[in-house]
Amino acid sequence: MIHLEKLNKTYPGVQPLHVLKDIDLSIEQGEYVSIMGASGSGKSTLLNVLGILDDYDTGRYMLDDKLIAGLSEKKAAVYRNKMIGFVFQSFNLISFKNAMENVALPLFYKGVARKKRNQLALDYLEKVGLKEWWHHYPNELSGGQKQRISIARALISQPRIILADEPTGALDSHTTDEVIQLLSEVNAEGITMIIVTHEKSVAEKTKRIIHLKDGFIESDTINVPNLATCSK
Ligand code: ADP
Ligand code: MG
Repeated sequence: MIHLEKLNKTYPGVQPLHVLKDIDLSIEQGEYVSIMGASGSGKSTLLNVLGILDDYDTGRYMLDDKLIAGLSEKKAAVYRNKMIGFVFQSFNLISFKNAMENVALPLFYKGVARKKRNQLALDYLEKVGLKEWWHHYPNELSGGQKQRISIARALISQPRIILADEPTGALDSHTTDEVIQLLSEVNAEGITMIIVTHEKSVAEKTKRIIHLKDGFIESDTINVPNLATCSK
């Protein structure tokens, strides 16, 4: 479903920075992939290109056989909303909305009526084990709870791909296990899961590990997931 061919991206500036270099990458529906690499190696840039949050310069990005290049913001948003859910290290929850309202937010933007979107949000909160917490605000929740809420928010649009940028970067080891377990369950339902991480214990839960180095794919290997709990 995802095909990159000789994809290049440079951040312009006084000293232009060539961050993605001739990336060739194919990811099929339902895969469970981690992207590792040192800080600055281009992981987030690659994820942002995959998520149509950022453009690229040369090469091709095909998503479901559609060429993703030079799209208007409106068109990019249509593809994103239809296909992709995002999970971020810093959760990106809205502080003045409770858990249910945060999860419901993508449906607000799709014009779904309040009662319906809140009901669906409760269903997704239940799925991540937090239904009882629906009325709590982000500052009343632990890091692990916040990340599970942000996963529920990603799922409510029924995406086919989830892109997670260091989803456990702000969590302790126990909570990391819980969050990765949840992402593994989501993948087991058929959603393509792509996780950027610099934690080996997290990558080892996935079925394919890609290493980026200075904007190149250094290695791309099948992994037999280690089902034991992670330890940082
Ligand atoms: P990673 O996620 O692997 O740490 P990034 O993709 O965030 O790497 O960044 C790759 C390189 O590009 C870094 O050197 C970073 O400083 C630079 N960079 C990231 N975003 C921008 C931007 N918007 N403009 C200019 N340079 C950027
Ligand atoms: Mg990054």
